[in-house]
Amino acid sequence: ENIEMGWNLEHSYATLPKIFFANAKPASAPLPKLVVFNHKLAEALGFNVREIENESLAHLFAGNRLPEGAAPIAQAYAGHQFGHFTMLGDGRAVLLGEQMTPLGERLDIQLKGAGRTKYSRGGDGRAVLGPMLREYIISEAMHGLGIPTTRSLAVVTTGESVVRERFLQGAVLARVASSHIRVGTFQYAATWGKEQDLKALADYTIKRHFSNENIHGNPYAHLLDEVIKRQAMLIAQWQLVGFIHGVMNTDNMAISGETIDYGPCAFMDVYHPSTVFSSIDVHGRYAYGNQPKIALWNLIKFAETLLPLLHENQEQAVEVAQNSISRFNALYEKNWADGMRRKLGLFSKEENDEHLIHELLRIMEKYSADYTNTFIALTFDNMKDTAMFESEEFAQWHTLWKARLEGQKESKEDAHGLMRNNNPTVIPRNHRVEEALDAAENNRDYSKMENLLKVLSSPYEYSKEHEAYAVLPPPSAQPYRTFCGT
Ligand code: AMP
Ligand code: MG
Ligand code: MG
Repeated sequence: ENIEMGWNLEHSYATLPKIFFANAKPASAPLPKLVVFNHKLAEALGFNVREIENESLAHLFAGNRLPEGAAPIAQAYAGHQFGHFTMLGDGRAVLLGEQMTPLGERLDIQLKGAGRTKYSRGGDGRAVLGPMLREYIISEAMHGLGIPTTRSLAVVTTGESVVRERFLQGAVLARVASSHIRVGTFQYAATWGKEQDLKALADYTIKRHFSNENIHGNPYAHLLDEVIKRQAMLIAQWQLVGFIHGVMNTDNMAISGETIDYGPCAFMDVYHPSTVFSSIDVHGRYAYGNQPKIALWNLIKFAETLLPLLHENQEQAVEVAQNSISRFNALYEKNWADGMRRKLGLFSKEENDEHLIHELLRIMEKYSADYTNTFIALTFDNMKDTAMFESEEFAQWHTLWKARLEGQKESKEDAHGLMRNNNPTVIPRNHRVEEALDAAENNRDYSKMENLLKVLSSPYEYSKEHEAYAVLPPPSAQPYRTFCGT
């Protein structure tokens, strides 16, 4: 059965020195039930599940039955959590191996919530249903938006209760990632490994993620530059769609440039740079407007780990690192401003664009405008019924913007097309996510989640269905809060 399903696992990560991982055995689930499955992703991974029963899939993705060729491990890593450095590691995740896809990609398949490992510390190694479904929804939404991310293949309920503040349903998420190497993996190597361990990790990472680019000069300086480039792109993409990660600890920053670790994340509704949803982020360290700064902070931590490899002379190594790091802000700003121009239908760069962009954001902030729907209103030239759209300052801004559009050589239709491709009509709205999770958790009704996933897979389309998901919830007295899902 495994062979028919198309498992094709390799284990390149396990060729690293032993300090980087520990063997792990997924815990067995008493009554595994497959509740969500990503057929499209399964196909891309080379799996043929048509003839495989859901019950078999449930046993596989709960960790009860290991697929052919699996060699489960937990990975070691460290990290700065809210600024404090600590040893971490996969405390509740088990890597089955790297699936070699029909297109020749190497993708980690990890079971999150599959029991205790060497790195569990006081934790129970478990995950609960709500947060795993949330990760599934948001990660697949990010993929639909065209933003690099880990993917979600399946969620299985285990049939076991997990003790949190109360009893909750245990679940396992099968997560797919181009790797799980984190800034924190390098911090672990730099802190507890020998220089040769750090070098082995860096060489492995370059080979796995950065071997397509031409390497000129010191390969580790190249690694640093490329990681900075990818993060400058990723964070700009987050900002452009209003995604708030919520817990940008260094262990939650993937070297591959994919968004990873969906805990208390959520999409911004009302535009405000200080927006925070996470209940544990009491100081707003990971607020929307801080994300670029925090990314830079994390990248500095990454650069520090590479110092021994950047130059024999440590003073010169610091100079190399600082040089690279100093490029982040400009790279990020460029990606963001280019993206904002596209959101406004502007094909090329003009001097006054920055003013135009910032003035719009200023007005949105002043009138507490919905971030996503404002851009949709602009895209479809359908501005009405809000204090902002009726204001004089918006009218002035609108005149400037229209003039700027008319001054372009591209047609109005082309500008509209550009805006459509860059302004999602739907995002995973907090009330829709909660509604889907509530139905699943309390009524075992997954139809709301499936419907939500369907529109989120084509967020740049506009249909009656999309329209329904763009409707804002009634105003609420309480600010929306997310919790670090465990
Ligand atoms: P996170 O907040 O998801 O980034 O996780 C931080 C650290 O806590 C990681 O090392 C996780 O593996 C670990 N962890 C989170 N939940 C559990 C759990 N229930 N049991 C064991 N370790 C956990
Ligand atoms: Mg994490
Ligand atoms: Mg997490």
